[in-house]
Amino acid sequence: MQTEPYEIFAIRYAHLGNRHPAENFILADPHEFASDLDYFVWIVRRSDRLFLIDTGFGKEAADRRKREWLRCPIESLRLLDVAPADVSSVILTHMHYDHAGNLDLLPRARFHLQDREIAFATGRCMCHQTLRAPFDLENTLSMVRYIYAERAVFHEDHAELAPGFTLHHIGGHSAGLQVARVWTKRGWVVLASDASHFYANFEQRRPFPIVYNVSEMLEGFDTLHRLADSPQHIIPGHDPLVMKLYPAPSPALEGIVVRLDVPPAQ
Ligand SMILES: [Zn+2]
Ligand SMILES: [Zn+2]
Repeated sequence: MQTEPYEIFAIRYAHLGNRHPAENFILADPHEFASDLDYFVWIVRRSDRLFLIDTGFGKEAADRRKREWLRCPIESLRLLDVAPADVSSVILTHMHYDHAGNLDLLPRARFHLQDREIAFATGRCMCHQTLRAPFDLENTLSMVRYIYAERAVFHEDHAELAPGFTLHHIGGHSAGLQVARVWTKRGWVVLASDASHFYANFEQRRPFPIVYNVSEMLEGFDTLHRLADSPQHIIPGHDPLVMKLYPAPSPALEGIVVRLDVPPAQ
């Protein structure tokens, strides 16, 4: 492919430990290993383009939900020489609190999301506490304001935002969940976000228990395999292993940022 490859960076901004296996897998064995959760935002860039994928959550949400907040994900963009005010294209994989906060910190951004996600986040499903729990009302209200301010870009199913950078609807975990497929120097990498929280979800095809449609989630694992050049090209959304398998772009960013456009260790 002639297209200039993209660099991909994951910025780790929060953490949650002491997980029970049933919080990570439907029908988990209570004795099995229960991975912690890391929280990320992702930067995808090349000489002429820059995309921010997801916007994380702020300190208030971290305190309220008892997550360990390590740093502001938007301020952390500066670690990669990205000024938040310069970010114009933001992809929201879905509207859960840990992916769609901090929108007000991106004054020039337009937000790309699936039609089905805003319908889900503002419709009848939000009458149910189980489905509503991962959403923060303030984020949804902000997003609706940005729609009225013409700062939303809606997609249905898949969309090519630039050569070598496409979005694909998966659903499952959230009705309008989308993933990004990115052309890199090692081939097609898929940023799965919550289509697979952990490697184990897509490798073993075991659904995560926060789910809107189990069938779509299971089909989504197949979609990830189809979109990526190999299982090593799929990046799960919350797995602490990502920080172990991929290198930091510089010694100063060790433990904070890893590069995903290079092959993983092992
Ligand atoms: Zn989610
Ligand atoms: Zn998430």
